[in-house]
Amino acid sequence: MFGGTFNPVHLGHLRAAEEVMELLKLHRVMFVPAFSPPFNKTSLVPFEHRMKMVRLAISGNSAFTVSDVESRITGRSFTALTLERLKMSRSKDRFFFIMGADAFLELPKWYRPERVLELADIVVLMRPPLDIKALHKSPLIHKDDKKKLIPGDGRSKISLRTYSSGRRIILLRTTPLDISATRIRSIIRRGKSAKYLLPERIESYIISNKLYM
Ligand code: ATP
Ligand code: MG
Repeated sequence: MFGGTFNPVHLGHLRAAEEVMELLKLHRVMFVPAFSPPFNKTSLVPFEHRMKMVRLAISGNSAFTVSDVESRITGRSFTALTLERLKMSRSKDRFFFIMGADAFLELPKWYRPERVLELADIVVLMRPPLDIKALHKSPLIHKDDKKKLIPGDGRSKISLRTYSSGRRIILLRTTPLDISATRIRSIIRRGKSAKYLLPERIESYIISNKLYM
């Protein structure tokens, strides 16, 4: 499961999903756009547009899917509740929740982070400008495991214990891509080109629907 606002989806998300799938030999990556993000977000376009953009971006990749589950849950979009819902119909599946290091550092402030950790292994991806040392700040990683977080040790996969459950936190060193939706929105607002930061079809969709202008 790859949750996010996807406002809009970009190549940072898509490349991350591809590399996670390959490194962990997953069967599928399910993109789950947040319907009503708990933390206030600037320039959030309606859910339908964000869904459509993800749909366009993943078309042609049969291992990538998108779910509108969060639009069917009343109230705020809390990952703990979304995972519970997804598990109901897929009780035999093993779940991994994919997140960038920036989001992982915020996880303790989420609704019931310990529940998220019970329901899924957490896959953390490095994301510029953060480096591996930034993760030392996370209270979710067991203190004995912090010594594994050394810059430049070259491993692409580091497995860590958690305090709150038997699940793992898996740190992956995927290709660092310093692309963010915030920067893309600002480029569009200024009428500049966002080419090569996101799929061409998504930029066209944004322009023809006058999003982020
Ligand atoms: P915004 O700037 O609006 O916050 P974003 O680019 O961070 O947008 P989100 O939808 O917030 O995109 O991100 C969804 C998830 O994808 C988060 O866990 C985030 O950390 C991760 N993510 C986004 N961009 C990247 C990237 N370039 N590299 C690694 N992870 C990323
Ligand atoms: Mg973000």
